[in-house]
Amino acid sequence: MKKSAAIHKAPQKKPAAVSVALDQPGIPALDFGSAWEYSAAPESTSVTVQDRYELFIGGKFVRPKSGRYFQSVNPATEKPLARIAQANAADVDSAVKAARKAYDGVWGKMSGRERGKYLFRIARMIQERARELAILETMDGGKPIKESRDVDLPLVAAHFFYYAGWADKLNYAFPGKSARSIGVAGQIIPWNFPLMMAAWKIAPALACGNTVVLKPAETTSITAMHLAQIFQDAGLPDGVVNIITGVGRTGAALVEHPDIDKIAFTGSTDVGKKIAAAVAGSGKRLTLELGGKAANILMEDAPINQAVEGIINGIFFNQGHVCCAGSRLLVEESVYPQVLRRLRDRMRTLRVGDPLDKNTDIGAINSREQLNRICELVDSGVEEGAELFQSPCALPGSGYWFRPSFFTGVTASHRIAREEIFGPVLSVMTFRTPAEAIERANNTCYGLSAGIWTDKGSKIFKMASQLKAGVIWANTYNKFDPTSPFGGYKESGFGREGGLHGLLPYVVLE
Ligand code: NAP
Ligand code: MG
Repeated sequence: MKKSAAIHKAPQKKPAAVSVALDQPGIPALDFGSAWEYSAAPESTSVTVQDRYELFIGGKFVRPKSGRYFQSVNPATEKPLARIAQANAADVDSAVKAARKAYDGVWGKMSGRERGKYLFRIARMIQERARELAILETMDGGKPIKESRDVDLPLVAAHFFYYAGWADKLNYAFPGKSARSIGVAGQIIPWNFPLMMAAWKIAPALACGNTVVLKPAETTSITAMHLAQIFQDAGLPDGVVNIITGVGRTGAALVEHPDIDKIAFTGSTDVGKKIAAAVAGSGKRLTLELGGKAANILMEDAPINQAVEGIINGIFFNQGHVCCAGSRLLVEESVYPQVLRRLRDRMRTLRVGDPLDKNTDIGAINSREQLNRICELVDSGVEEGAELFQSPCALPGSGYWFRPSFFTGVTASHRIAREEIFGPVLSVMTFRTPAEAIERANNTCYGLSAGIWTDKGSKIFKMASQLKAGVIWANTYNKFDPTSPFGGYKESGFGREGGLHGLLPYVVLE
């Protein structure tokens, strides 16, 4: 049984053929009708959300052995979208067995050249279905369509293209060494960039010759199952990628399974620590991409309008559901009043609301639990004496929403300056000297990302060398590229994803 999302059923009219007769004998009329047909706009793309999504194991969609399903809701409306299969330990075991069989029988033996062809085909099919996937991503997760359409989906395809290119060149990636695959990788991904995180994990694993069991986050499993359909349609051999959904114990069952060779996790630092403890002494390889509390450092010589725009993007992009979000702003004291004024003015113009509207800047918070977490931390900021500014924008009646906000009067000991809020909330602080800015920026248990805004290249180099963060943007923020490695220091985790470095967790070098 399938149901269509009624809101997307706008009729697709075929444009009438337009003939232009050139007034010269012997020259035929040009027919623009067939040559100039554009793809349908996202608004008129019809998507089908299934009533129920099964597990993807051994190349087939199978009912969970648990017999249980859980509900995924649209966070912008609070309406149920679909029921998602709940995998138990027996389902996890079936998925790992399917991955092992595919590794031993097919994928582990296949030449890199052949593996690359599959990855290219998958990348092409993602591009072809990008609009449908973008709409589903927005409906299930709450992110604005302009982000899922223009940021997430292009990057998802780009990751598959990029790693397709490496599949037959692993020995060039590591000169003088021979790179061999590891085996079966268990991958657990979060809800903030569901398809993008799936691509970051699956593409390098497959390029290096490993097979995969992927566990999506419980609030955003739908697009992973549509990706599974693409794997099927691409003819990817059965069991090379298996996708198991679940809530509660599914992730832990995957981590604890004895036949897994490698675990890759992106999510909270608390769960990352539990996973590190669970795999300790097991011989399983591990990479962790955890939380962050990034500082954006704004120097007085920066182009202020451009910087404010970048800072807004850095914290309000994807509702602040970004591990590398620039959630602390450090402003040089001399320009503080000016920056605050511009920040307030710009925030007043941000549009919060229907994520499927292409004019929306800030969509829905991913879940009620996440909204509660944001509210609790913001309340703590007010209780601890910081001053809160919130955009006065109207919010929709149902759904999970949070106004773009910033705090001033924040001290380093406040919870809002130390803990990851993972929502559209900025903490603004000041500094007098570059040394003080560096000290404040590094004064955190995290080390994922940072930003520097200045007119002087020399300042960028000097500060970047002193900041303890895996990714540092200068005069821009939140820019991603498959060729560029991404990952953290300290409690932000270890291991890199993306670029040549992103191959390393998936190979043994001999
Ligand atoms: P979370 O608790 O970190 O992660 C949930 C995922 O981890 C689920 O798929 C869950 O699956 C699995 N999991 C939980 N316990 C596990 C265990 N012991 N072993 C293996 N897997 C386990 O994320 P959340 O609760 O959705 O978000 C909480 C906070 O995490 C957010 O407020 C935010 O600060 C942070 N976060 C960070 C990122 C990032 O990109 N770094 C992304 C999302 C969230 P099961 O339910 O099946 O166990
Ligand atoms: Mg959902």
